[in-house]
Formats: sequence, structure tokens, C-alpha cells
Amino acid sequence: MTLVAGVDIGSTTAKCALLEAGEVVGKSLAPVGVELVKDAERALEQALAEAGRERREVAVVTGTGYGRFKVKFGQFAVTEIGCHAKGAHYLFPATHLVLDIGGQDTKAIKVDAQGEVVDFAMNDKCAAGTGRFLDVCAAALGYDVSEIGTLSQGARRPVKVTNTCTVFAESEVTSYVARGKDPRDILAGLYAGIVSRSLSLMQRVGVEPEVTFTGGVSKNEGMVRTLEQRLGFKVNVSPLSQYVGAIGAALYGLERTEGTSA
Ligand code: ADP
Repeated sequence: MTLVAGVDIGSTTAKCALLEAGEVVGKSLAPVGVELVKDAERALEQALAEAGRERREVAVVTGTGYGRFKVKFGQFAVTEIGCHAKGAHYLFPATHLVLDIGGQDTKAIKVDAQGEVVDFAMNDKCAAGTGRFLDVCAAALGYDVSEIGTLSQGARRPVKVTNTCTVFAESEVTSYVARGKDPRDILAGLYAGIVSRSLSLMQRVGVEPEVTFTGGVSKNEGMVRTLEQRLGFKVNVSPLSQYVGAIGAALYGLERTEGTSA
């Protein structure tokens, strides 16, 4: 059996997934700092510690994410688009469209029945509609982003957040708070705006079920619900959704080495 690792160095977090015999046997997640090379090493070490395995047991390491070239100890470096497609297909084999919302970008990736990329659309020009946007707006409401998931439940009159620029949206949120608006209505307005922008990206590649939602923002239940309401059907979300890029990278390495290590 071959133990493989995928290390995904994103704009916000470093993730590692260890795979063996088709199972995720270890994982790690930590914020990235300024020294990405060290973050990458730590990500692998922490995943190994969780799995109770040794570094020498790992047959191949594949780096992905915007910091993939900082995974100096890896054998391969591949783009996150392909890794998200592969990882989403692994978790949900009937995936046709992946929506990945990470810290600083949003991607819609059309996937074929084998988990290969057919087409993709991406917004990485500004933080509008990304995790960073939600982090800032959550803070303006006095919450951590991990607390706002269920908070929009019970919203009655969602506000309209007109600014797409993070800085202006933050002051818009602050002014709604000052005017005594219900935080649930403010959050519902934020989710509606992000989902609308995500849908236009998805429409550029074609919306077709099953849709798999990945990246840290998929941990936000309010976002999942809002997306499902707009699509009119359920989307796939896994507890491993933030690790999808790392899982895809590990699978890529496995495919490349299968011939020599099996
Ligand atoms: P990247 O790969 O670009 O580093 P991630 O996919 O790790 O980004 O996503 C990071 C974002 O996920 C954060 O900016 C935050 O908004 C969101 N996030 C992380 N954890 C949670 C959580 N528990 N609940 C809601 N949102 C979360």
C-alpha cells in the first residue's frame, strides 16, 4: 500500500491530506504565515502526527495551491484547479461542477465523469465574494467567521449590501449595525450577494448537478443554504471540503507513481 501526501498552500490556510488505500488517513489545517516553506513542512508533519506515521513512509508528496512551489520537499507541483476537480470527484463521484470559495478567490470548475477539468472560471481579482470578504464583515458584526454560519437563520428582512469592495462593504455593515439592523438580516444580505456573484461564475461554465461546494467557505451553513435556495437543489458538502485541493494533490501523486510503487 502506498502512502501519499498532498499539501495545499492557499492564501489563508495550509492543508495536508495523507491518503492510503483510497482512504484519508491523516490531515492538518493551519493558517499560513510569512514563511510558506515552513508552513508546508509543518502541514505535512502535523498530518503525519495525526496519522501516527513517519515521514519516510510517504512515497510521494504533491504540492498545490498558490504557494505550491514552496512545497520544496514535494516531487510534483500542480495547479489547484485540477486538484479540486480530482478531490471533489473522489468525495462525490457524480460531481459535475465544483464551486470552491477560499480565502481570496472563487472558482467554478466543470468536471467530467472521470474527475478531469472540462472548463473553469475564476475570480481572483478582488476579495469580493471570498472568505476574506466574510472574515472582514463577520468582524464588523463582532463575530469570528466560524460563528456566523447559523446566524442568518431566522432573517426576516435581508438587507441589501451594495458594495462589492471589501473595505466599503465593511463600512456598510458597520453602518447597518449602527442603525440597529438585525445581524441575521445583515448576514443574509451578505450571503445573497456572495451567492449571486458565485452563480455568475458557475453559469459561465454551465450549472449542472451534482454541484460540490469546497473550500473554507463551504463550512458556513448559511452560505450552503443560500446557495441551495438559489440553485433549487442540494449541493454536496463534506466535512473534508476544505481539504479537497490537498486530497486531489495526493491522488495526483498516487496516479503518477502507481506504476512504479504498486
Ligand atoms: P485558501 O485555500 O485560499 O487558503 P480556504 O479554502 O482554507 O482558503 O478558506 C479560508 C476561508 O474559509 C476563510 O477566509 C474563512 O472565511 C472560511 N472559513 C474557514 N473556517 C471556517 C468556518 N469554520 N466557518 C465558516 N467559514 C470558515
